[in-house]
Amino acid sequence: MQISDIKNLRIAIVGGGYGGAALAKALQHIGAENVHVYEQASALAQVGAGIGLRPPSVELFRKWGIFDAIAAVSSPSDHLEIISADGKHILATEEWPFMHAFEQVNHNRMIHRGDFIDVLLSVLPEGMVHLGHKLDTIVDHGETAMLTFANGTVVEADLVIGADGIRSTVRHQLFSQQEPVFSGEHAYRAVIAIDDAHGLVTDNNPRFYMGENGTIAYNLPLPHRGQLSYDITAPSKDGSWAPQITNDYLVRLLEGFDERIVAVAGELDISQVTSRSVFDIDPIDSWHTDSVALLGDAAHAMLHHQGQGANSAIMDADSLAEALLQGKSVKDALAIYQEIRKPLTDELQRVSRQGWHADAVESAFPANQ
Ligand SMILES: Cc1cc2nc3c(=O)[nH]c(=O)nc-3n(C[C@H](O)[C@H](O)[C@H](O)COP(=O)(O)OP(=O)(O)OC[C@H]3O[C@@H](n4cnc5c(N)ncnc54)[C@H](O)[C@@H]3O)c2cc1C
Repeated sequence: MQISDIKNLRIAIVGGGYGGAALAKALQHIGAENVHVYEQASALAQVGAGIGLRPPSVELFRKWGIFDAIAAVSSPSDHLEIISADGKHILATEEWPFMHAFEQVNHNRMIHRGDFIDVLLSVLPEGMVHLGHKLDTIVDHGETAMLTFANGTVVEADLVIGADGIRSTVRHQLFSQQEPVFSGEHAYRAVIAIDDAHGLVTDNNPRFYMGENGTIAYNLPLPHRGQLSYDITAPSKDGSWAPQITNDYLVRLLEGFDERIVAVAGELDISQVTSRSVFDIDPIDSWHTDSVALLGDAAHAMLHHQGQGANSAIMDADSLAEALLQGKSVKDALAIYQEIRKPLTDELQRVSRQGWHADAVESAFPANQ
């Protein structure tokens, strides 16, 4: 499409998480001026935990001119380590894929989830993000689509992107009514001071301690904040949204783990620990019509074992913007977008479901993405 057509295109993004905010930036980068992000929350926040931004995502931050803002609130990591639960054996040490694939070295950037969304929102023009807008219904009219929000606002757009997360309203109303699938796992996440980490943090690199029973303890250092993101994933049959846990429960779960990991579990302020059941979705057949498409978790929510959910949303954002430049029309662009992204995310969804097993770690990155 011509830049002049893209400039005037009425684009509505539903959801102001990583995917929606990254897409707004990517669209601004290609010259779109009529972009609006509609977010249900009245203030945007993220749970207290770390996340790793992969080298290809970092390359996009350079492309969009926001690398310095990201770098200011993140720490560079060059590899990750997978270790036996007791901390005695290193099972794998792997450099982050694609670290050397670009003109300059792109490290994996370890960032606090809250800092990441703050940066993404801070680089968008004022007035682009509309908080307090919960999408109620979407009607697809072919070349346009109509959005009605719970607060009564009605919006017509030439392109609507559902970036509204794993429980996407856009997906549910237009693409698939299948419910998210419970993984049989819980994720417990806390951010603690490095001074309280019993010497677990020795450099910037994440370490994954692999238990025999499927329990994994992740350490994601956030040294620029003087903090460690201390995460545990553990099997459970309880699929409730926010399972209740205690320090004793965590300590029991971590029997046989490195004593420093166990010590931290015993000392956590449990009121500050985010406890969640983990879900993904089955791949859906198609995620676009002629004027509506899905992006990020709405399109392909995956388990967190590959650390690729947010990264995939960022890659989607770039692909969609590039597809608009490449395609002859919105319809054409959305087909290109799905053709490029879906095979990659289908594979990530599949691999992420495999999880990791302490006795069979061949590569931390089996999807090679
Ligand atoms: C334990 C755990 C660890 C993880 N670790 C990593 C990691 O290391 N690396 C990684 O890349 N990914 C990781 N992920 C995955 C990552 O968090 C998600 O993939 C990512 O947040 C998806 O971004 P999104 O913008 O698509 O969706 P979301 O972040 O869910 O954002 C969706 C937004 O849409 C809004 N919304 C929803 N419904 C409506 C509506 N009806 N109207 C308006 N707005 C609406 C929501 O309020 C929200 O702001 C992890 C996930 C978990 C559970």
